[in-house]
Amino acid sequence: MHANPIAPLLDMIRHRTRRSDIGRHAILAGAAALVCAAALEPHRNVGAQPAASASAGGAVTLFENVRIFDGKGAALSTPSNVLIRGKIIERISTQPIPVDRRADTRIIDGGGRTLMPGLIDVHWHAMLARTTPAEAFGDVGFNNLVAGDEATDTLMRGFTTVRDLGGPVFGLKRAIDEGIVKGPRIYPSGAMITVTSGHGDFRQLTDLPRTIGGMLTRMEQIGGAMVADSPDEVRVRVREQLMQGASQIKLTAGGGVSSPFSPIDVTTFTEAELRAAVEAADNWGTYVAVHAFTPAAIQRAVAAGVKCIEHGFLMDEATARLLAEKDIWLSLQPLPEELRLGFPVGSVQRAKADEVWPGIARAYELAKKYKLKTAFGTDVLFSRALAQKQAAILASLARWHTSAEALVMATGTNAELLTLSGKRNPYPGKLGVVEGGALADLLLVEGNPLDNINLIADPASNFKIIMKDGTIYKNTLTR
Ligand SMILES: [Zn+2]
Repeated sequence: MHANPIAPLLDMIRHRTRRSDIGRHAILAGAAALVCAAALEPHRNVGAQPAASASAGGAVTLFENVRIFDGKGAALSTPSNVLIRGKIIERISTQPIPVDRRADTRIIDGGGRTLMPGLIDVHWHAMLARTTPAEAFGDVGFNNLVAGDEATDTLMRGFTTVRDLGGPVFGLKRAIDEGIVKGPRIYPSGAMITVTSGHGDFRQLTDLPRTIGGMLTRMEQIGGAMVADSPDEVRVRVREQLMQGASQIKLTAGGGVSSPFSPIDVTTFTEAELRAAVEAADNWGTYVAVHAFTPAAIQRAVAAGVKCIEHGFLMDEATARLLAEKDIWLSLQPLPEELRLGFPVGSVQRAKADEVWPGIARAYELAKKYKLKTAFGTDVLFSRALAQKQAAILASLARWHTSAEALVMATGTNAELLTLSGKRNPYPGKLGVVEGGALADLLLVEGNPLDNINLIADPASNFKIIMKDGTIYKNTLTR
């Protein structure tokens, strides 16, 4: 026993122990002590800026003789020099930039290569990209280690930032931010929120009926997906994600391909339920993104105040016009054909995939026609092989876009979508661009990807340097 009755309590607050434990000890220590201790001990705000990385204390990197793709324009700059101090791009100049040659100064001869912003994938599932569906709800420790390894691979593909649209990702994000695991910046949604039978409800029929207020299913216990069937339930689940540090909230507003009991044509949440989520997110200064394919699901979400539509593959002209009028983001994914073919012939999932896939090209065409604010993501699930093609999936945008359009989408434009998180943005600062004052997430690329986007498809060969937050994670130039 501790001599000081509130010592265990302080310890637990320091170590961010589960609230239920805090509650138990609060009874021992007395409610007044709890209030007092909680007020004295500054809580680590999960939504706040992460601790500075070890190298962020003013170390200097100077790239000399690089041609810059800035994440906005369609052309490379003339040969330039770029100075990074700590984690910030401090100066860009066509003139030589003088630096003190101290031990922590690194000067890199870019050799006329392309310097561009790190890539951003705004529809990623860091916890689900590599595991199998069976593993996904299995051993949490194993899954986190797999996801950590995948996060390192993700960064090594040049993706310095991902928006995670569902999965128990808060621990992984923290480990990356604290430098324990190498990986991208993560904008976490936490659990995806779904209705009974909706996309993301991976329960089996034998799990029914659910007892309201009863025991949570495995999927919910680990924070993968939460089932909510009323505005009140939705509010609880949204606020739980926000409390854990969600930078935005993900709901599934209509049927999906991979889940067993959600036909494509159905709309799931009522408008009141969607609105409850939007209000709860809005109270925290952030927004809701929804999975939606059909015009009905998209239109209902827009009516409820949702700011970003994921997929939208079955939308029609009227819906595209609505998104344009209301200035709603469309987060599209050029899903590869092999993903569709991966669902066994004759399965429910394959039939649904066959229904959805033709809509992908149409959605890209509508997005162009109505000049929608269009973001890029990959939505890789349950496949290490596909995850390894993350950058190749980006390059496949060549079906509808010039190289420059595709690369602007995956950098400057995607970063603009991330700003919707407002004060819940875990990484304040400018991302997705190469400009003075922006965060130093940079790739040094062999050749000019604005001429040939296929250079991006082979990051192992063509990304010579990968920098995130001013720290170099890959450098195949020196040695
Ligand atoms: Zn997804």
